[in-house]
Amino acid sequence: MAATTIPVDPFDLVIIGGTGDLARRKILPGLFRRMCAGQMPEGARVIGASRSDMDRAGFQAFVRTALEEFAGETQCDDGAVDRFLDMLDYETLDVFADAGWKRLKKKLRADVIRAVYFSVGPSLFGEIARKLSDHKVTDEHSRIVVEKPFGHDLETAQALNAELRACFDEHQIYRIDHYLGKETVQNLMAVRFGNALFEPLWNAQHVDHVQITVGETVSVDGRGAYYDKSGAMRDMVQNHIMQLLCLTAMEPPSKYGADAVRDEKLKVIRALEPVPLTDVVRGQYSAGGDVDSYVAHSQNPKSTTESYIAMKVKVANWRWAGTPFYIRTGKRLRARMSEIAVVFKDPPHSIFEGEFNRKGNVLIIRLQPDEGITLRVTIKEPGPGGMRLTEVPLDMTFAEALGDQVAFMPDAYERLIMDVIRGDQTLFMRGDEVEAAWAWVDPIVKAWSDARDKPEPYDASGSGPEDSLMLLHRDGRRWREIKA
Ligand code: NAD
Repeated sequence: MAATTIPVDPFDLVIIGGTGDLARRKILPGLFRRMCAGQMPEGARVIGASRSDMDRAGFQAFVRTALEEFAGETQCDDGAVDRFLDMLDYETLDVFADAGWKRLKKKLRADVIRAVYFSVGPSLFGEIARKLSDHKVTDEHSRIVVEKPFGHDLETAQALNAELRACFDEHQIYRIDHYLGKETVQNLMAVRFGNALFEPLWNAQHVDHVQITVGETVSVDGRGAYYDKSGAMRDMVQNHIMQLLCLTAMEPPSKYGADAVRDEKLKVIRALEPVPLTDVVRGQYSAGGDVDSYVAHSQNPKSTTESYIAMKVKVANWRWAGTPFYIRTGKRLRARMSEIAVVFKDPPHSIFEGEFNRKGNVLIIRLQPDEGITLRVTIKEPGPGGMRLTEVPLDMTFAEALGDQVAFMPDAYERLIMDVIRGDQTLFMRGDEVEAAWAWVDPIVKAWSDARDKPEPYDASGSGPEDSLMLLHRDGRRWREIKA
């Protein structure tokens, strides 16, 4: 049974940077898949805009190629690509020049939802906001979608927020963190707040610790110079991992709504304790196989930027006092694996003999590969021979449990763009959340910069630096294995 989709209201979606990499790989194929799923209304229009000098036919040809390359498996009939191309228009526009904005404005309709996606580098965000407002391309009903990175530190994030808020109200600003659009991330909320089973146990009394892992096999080759200015802390922890941590740690919101959820996330960020350098491990991958080292990729032999980071994080509130959150993320690791593991405490007393029988349960929320949820439980080993216990997974891999519904499940970008059109900000970051996250990150970065801290080299295709193992060993715990 395929998932039911309700078409959204008619809209004009302008993609500034419509010929860029993100538009080509994610936004345009995503919109096409939503059309195939029956979610695009008759009156939907997508208007590409960028510096590239091309006309509507040129943009349609560009999008046709993008769909061939990136649309993947869809529910589409033969005429679908042509129907999608019919929805497209294009305007050549330099953000800094007035002429293009005037032409763009003429192309837009007054009576439909209007959204503008800033799919360009962040240095242009402020100028685009001003131009949209000065030329009245947008009004108080329009929405803007802003890509990452949202600032480089607290100061730049505040400046960017100020620039956007000078032209738009907070309820019009959709700051994308595509992790929030992932099915499993939303399922984390469904599991926590849709079942009576977990929530009573979701606290320091019953949870020993939480592990959040975002492991990648890829290197930074090709974007090393850019990455070297950011590093794992800014590129992954401040945004994606922070969001995962917030959804795991937050109090139940009073309802599933934008401000209720974001208020609770904000409280978590504000409750994060400063992290001492002794609770941070940074690493840089060495050369391995036929892949060069991090410093070669960054083209900076003296680089002290981390391609791996592990931290012990404490949420200083009543619910989590004494339960650490261990987080780690890195490039060039053994496997691509992202998960949240909630490790429950061992049973307080064993009625069975032997060591094996006092394992705590683990709830694993897997983002990749094979999105799904697993609960590890202890059962009796089958067969004669007395009471021997073993651990088995209660496994809910979505692809197996939900069949067809998963085959055509929207990816994160598709879902989030449709949320913009629906006017639902629940899965977007609010300005104060982003600033609070930077306010926590900045002193940690400053501390290692002041201490001239150097990242530890780690073997490519391993599980990160040795010291990251010690981070847990010294607490009598260990990381879950990184494996595909
Ligand atoms: P890109 O360089 O491939 O594309 C940039 C687009 O902006 C092009 O269409 C270009 O013509 C247009 N552009 C640049 N300067 C312009 C100007 N002055 N006036 C008008 N148009 C101009 O970049 P991208 O990879 O598509 O990234 C866009 C944004 O998305 C960035 O903020 C990036 O950090 C973010 N992002 C990208 C990805 C990805 O997978 N590519 C993933 C996550 C976030």
